[in-house]
Amino acid sequence: MDIPALIGRQRAFFKEEQTKSLGERLKRLRALRDAVKKHEPALLAAVQKDLHKSEFEAFTTEIGLVYKEISHALSRLRSWAKPKRVRTPLTHWGSKSYIVPEPYGVALIIAPWNYPLQLALVPLVGAIAAGNTVVLKPSELAPHVSSAITAVIADVFEPEWVSVVEGGVETSTALLAEKTDYILFTGSTHVGRIVMTAAAKHLTPVTLELGGKSPCIVSGDADLKLAAKRIAFGKFTNAGQTCVAPDYVYVQSGVKDAFLGHLAAAVKELYGDDPLRNPSYTHLISDRHFARLAAFLRDGRVVIGGQTDASQLAIAPTVLDGVDWSSPVMQDEIFGPVLPVLAYDRIEDVYEAVLARPKPLALYLFSSNRELQQRVIDRLSFGGGCINDTLMHFASSYLPVGGVGESGIGSYHGENTFFTFSHQKSVLRQATWFDIPLRYPTSKAGLAII
Ligand code: NAD
Repeated sequence: MDIPALIGRQRAFFKEEQTKSLGERLKRLRALRDAVKKHEPALLAAVQKDLHKSEFEAFTTEIGLVYKEISHALSRLRSWAKPKRVRTPLTHWGSKSYIVPEPYGVALIIAPWNYPLQLALVPLVGAIAAGNTVVLKPSELAPHVSSAITAVIADVFEPEWVSVVEGGVETSTALLAEKTDYILFTGSTHVGRIVMTAAAKHLTPVTLELGGKSPCIVSGDADLKLAAKRIAFGKFTNAGQTCVAPDYVYVQSGVKDAFLGHLAAAVKELYGDDPLRNPSYTHLISDRHFARLAAFLRDGRVVIGGQTDASQLAIAPTVLDGVDWSSPVMQDEIFGPVLPVLAYDRIEDVYEAVLARPKPLALYLFSSNRELQQRVIDRLSFGGGCINDTLMHFASSYLPVGGVGESGIGSYHGENTFFTFSHQKSVLRQATWFDIPLRYPTSKAGLAII
């Protein structure tokens, strides 16, 4: 594919202003929803082939989120797109002030493989809603979903408006070498740095949705049984290949054994006696990921799970005890179904450990103590998270999803996706039937206008 030519055609098409027409944007969003519906069986099959994801999980964590983002945008786009009247200071008497959202132009979206469908299409919805053209690069590690997405997009958009460019690192590098007007990248912190460096060359603004080690704190006063179930769900959905999955658990020492007992029961309840044979349990994406994760099983004492099947790229939901911060499993984001459980006596030690490391993408606290809940929110910096739950903040159209520090820059979901892909243009409309002389150097009185 001739990437410079494609971006050139999109730029020319953007200038024609069809993508800016509100009526056209709404029409295309409806058409996108209909195309996803039409291709639903193919999309579900593709997710199954790439990740062994069950229909239930593919619907609740992928396609369902795309429908939700589209219907949220369809019902609110008219209001988001309206110029917003704001106050005008007295010094500007006679004028009116507005903020006008305008599309950037050609947007580049680079997606990862772990939720290959929704992490490509949810940003796309906002980029289209805002009036941009889009070059979308799905992940080469989920090739079936990548080509299924290509088919959906080809049904709805001419390539000047939205093009899917399939390929791996070389393709991504070639896309980043061109000047685009906005980049939304979802992936690892390491590649996020590469993306930002490339964007800096063209001064292209970026949203970086990255990863990190997201802590999950279980206080002694928590409802342990419920905590264990919600943590098992948050960690082992998609076999732990979730950016906002709890990476590790910090449990108060006195309740550790009880918590582990509940966790074992929850894993059994959710995934059965033999998760490797459970059709509802997702597998890993590649041999490389399998080998990396299987090696972690030697880093501690396996207290739950531990079974592996290299031929299926599957590792059972596994919990490790006897791990500390020097263990290899505690160095980087795990991104798989291995959950180390650490113990703490004083919550201050947890604060210290979390604060000593890069700011996480997510943080979860299980506690019934309101004071502790508030203290954790105030004391620790993290992209987003839940009190007494896991993952669910990600699935709300009303909460911005994004990291902080090394876990990301910017956010999206719901109206945030629209505003992420919109420049906020300030406009002051001044009256001409009078002219206050105070601003001019000829004025004796003078006036500070700023
Ligand atoms: P990745 O960074 O390896 O790849 C992401 C995308 O970047 C892919 O499309 C890939 O082709 C491209 N890419 C890879 N190397 C590149 C390079 N050198 N130059 C240019 N482009 C390159 O990430 P991944 O393995 O697909 O996804 C896993 C990571 O993504 C985890 O760290 C996870 O936490 C993070 N993630 C974050 C979110 C979020 O919402 N914050 C969501 C999902 C995943």
